[in-house]
Amino acid sequence: MQQYPCIINYCRDKWDVAHAVIWARKCHAPLRIRNGGHNYEGYSNGNCTLVIDVSEMTGIDLDERKNRLYVQGGVTNKLLYEFVASKGYPFPGGTCPTVGVSGYAMGGGWGLSCRYFGLGCDSLEEIELVNYEGNIIKANRNCNADLFWACRGAGGGNFGVIVSMTFKLPPKIDNVTLIEIDYLQVSPEEQEVFLQTWQEWLSDADPRITLISRIYNSVNDGLAMLIRGFFYGIPDEAEQIVKPFLELAGAEYDFEYVTFLDAVTIIGSNYPDFEKFQSVSRFVLKDFNECEISALVKLIGERPEGSVFAGLSMYALGGRVSEIETDETAFFYRNAHFIIWLETTWEENRFKEANRCWIYDRFPALASVTTGSYVNFPYNELPNYLEEYYGAHASTLKKVKAKYDPFNIFTFPQGIWRKCQPPTPDFCEKGIDETLTMKSDDAAYRGFRYVRDQVHQRDLFQPPVDHSASQV
Ligand SMILES: Cc1cc2nc3c(=O)[nH]c(=O)nc-3n(C[C@H](O)[C@H](O)[C@H](O)COP(=O)(O)OP(=O)(O)OC[C@H]3O[C@@H](n4cnc5c(N)ncnc54)[C@H](O)[C@@H]3O)c2cc1C
Repeated sequence: MQQYPCIINYCRDKWDVAHAVIWARKCHAPLRIRNGGHNYEGYSNGNCTLVIDVSEMTGIDLDERKNRLYVQGGVTNKLLYEFVASKGYPFPGGTCPTVGVSGYAMGGGWGLSCRYFGLGCDSLEEIELVNYEGNIIKANRNCNADLFWACRGAGGGNFGVIVSMTFKLPPKIDNVTLIEIDYLQVSPEEQEVFLQTWQEWLSDADPRITLISRIYNSVNDGLAMLIRGFFYGIPDEAEQIVKPFLELAGAEYDFEYVTFLDAVTIIGSNYPDFEKFQSVSRFVLKDFNECEISALVKLIGERPEGSVFAGLSMYALGGRVSEIETDETAFFYRNAHFIIWLETTWEENRFKEANRCWIYDRFPALASVTTGSYVNFPYNELPNYLEEYYGAHASTLKKVKAKYDPFNIFTFPQGIWRKCQPPTPDFCEKGIDETLTMKSDDAAYRGFRYVRDQVHQRDLFQPPVDHSASQV
């Protein structure tokens, strides 16, 4: 995704972040917040914006006595895994090493340990955030509890800049079983049986196991299927648990008993440095009937022009994820069985439109048998995105947004926003670089982020205040 911000501010500490927010407001600069930069629709970036980049804030610390892990806002999955594993701990992080933990956890955070330890956000105990005034505030279950609730599942970029997070630590472990099952050159009928097996298996699967499964159609493998996952136990037991998959025709499998760090590293090594793709995610809350399964398999039967890979991935939920009450965090789809993710990947730019249309055309069929979308796997064309991402939590989230970001400073094309006065954009026109005339991409509803005449605004030149110390 090509986007051209005016400024990228690489912040070194929370004070840098605070000053960036204050400066942006003074200059009427549209803001974006970025960590790992992995947002599928590029929402951490934007034309003619000031990007607050926290990726250099990579401090990590651990207090075993209190069972707490402290990470700064720029830490990635890889950094976190290496740190906790060196002390003997696993962590319910994500699969991609370069994804930022702040972006991951704010959106819920699905990972290969989630059925055992919960989503990434379920381990959060406290966040420290730079707010719309450039002040540093804390949020936990006792202090700014509504903000803390919202930041566990409503996605990043909405309420302020997360400068640090405190997680509780899971119990120490020695090894996990890394599960890999592949089926190459299969038929559509075999993909249907696979989907049927998947949903039956997941309905009462052991919570110590979390799998991702995929049916796909690729240039290299033709029609194929795969399973990857972690089991918090020994390989013999894992083999028994996934037996229904091993009994399917053509299964080639491997169960490795490895350290947690080796397991996440092997999974992470599958990601290419760069990929051109379009995708849409949905939650599955019911069992599919035969017709629906057949229709799902047909979705990937033919790849769009230029596509090298088209697939439907299934991310197992349940276990610890569904034990937590729906209203305990902003992550709404606690009762979903799994996330389903339709994706196409291409290599040459000229095929971009054909691939985007391919997803767009298939969305209604996928939506007709599913409910809501996962905010960490966003889709720009989603109608009613607030309801799709947040379900019945959308209205509460709008109130939290109005309370903690009353001037809508932190926003992006699918942000949580409330109706405001018409835009008063002038950063782009009077911006610091006169040669850059491009207007921001979503100015129609973002430009009003800073309404100058608004009452109750304090002098933006006042230094930032650290309220966090008094609020612990
Ligand atoms: C290859 C790949 C694999 C993935 N695998 C998984 C997976 O296994 N499980 C899963 O749940 N998700 C996964 N994701 C999705 C990923 O978790 C989300 O895209 C996540 O939001 C990315 O965070 P980031 O910091 O890397 O990205 P960014 O693009 O930097 O940020 C993502 C969003 O969070 C906001 N944000 C980032 N940092 C902060 C901060 N410090 N304070 C406030 N807001 C912030 C941004 O403004 C943006 O809206 C994957 C994505 C990719 C590209």
